[in-house]
Order: sequence, then structure tokens, then C-alpha cells
Amino acid sequence: MEDCIFCKIVKGEIPSNKVYEDDEILAFKDINPLAPIHILVIPKKHITSTNDIQPEDEKLMGKIFLTIKQIAKKEGFAEEGYRVVNNCGENGGQEVNHLHFHILGGKKLGTKIV
Ligand code: 5GP
Ligand code: ZN
Repeated sequence: MEDCIFCKIVKGEIPSNKVYEDDEILAFKDINPLAPIHILVIPKKHITSTNDIQPEDEKLMGKIFLTIKQIAKKEGFAEEGYRVVNNCGENGGQEVNHLHFHILGGKKLGTKIV
């Protein structure tokens, strides 16, 4: 989608620090990390938010979570644990309107999520 930052990252028009890539999924380091580990995992195809996930995306969503698990293992923080966050829409605090999952870790995170 035009004027979508993350679509531009997928196309290589904006550089990113890639952690994982396949034909459907891209993971890269957040530009403004909120924890020692802060990775964003996105579908390469433009899906605006969780509200826009369609039934045909079911397999892709499962693959995204398996990818999150694999990234945690490969990057060496699976055992110590981490948090996966998806912000949806205005009240959810979503700033980039391309579906993404934050992986946060590298320190003991606060117990509150709001
Ligand atoms: P949201 O608030 O939408 O859930 O999260 C968007 C995230 O994207 C933020 O954590 C922000 O730092 C990150 N971000 C925004 N623009 C860029 C960019 O151009 N490159 C990277 N790597 N991260 C970005
Ligand atoms: Zn997009």
C-alpha cells in the first residue's frame, strides 16, 4: 500500500535492521526500542490492523506466531521469556497502520500492560 511505512520497509524503500525474512513475513528491529530486545514482526502483505485480518489469513497468523517462537529461540531469549504485543486502532495506541507484533524482552518487564 502506498504511503505505508512498513510496506516501504518490505519493498526495501526504507532500510531496516532485519532479524528474519521469508516470502510472507518480515521481522526487524524497532527504530525506537522500548526494551533491550524490541523486534517487530509483520506480514509482508498489507493488513491494516487486527480488525482487518480475514479468514483466509488464518494460516499466515499461525505462521507469524511460530516465527515469533523461532526468532526468540534463534536470538537466544526464548528461555528467559518475552512479551508479544499488538496495538489495534486508536484506543490500542496503534501508530503504524500495518499489522505488526512487538516482541519485547531482554529485561524483566513491568507486570502491568496498561
Ligand atoms: P505501534 O505504536 O503502531 O504499535 O508501533 C509502531 C512501532 O513502529 C513503534 O514502536 C515505532 O518505533 C516503530 N517504527 C515506526 N517507524 C519505523 C521505521 O521506519 N522503522 C522501524 N524499524 N520501526 C519503526
Ligand atoms: Zn503496509
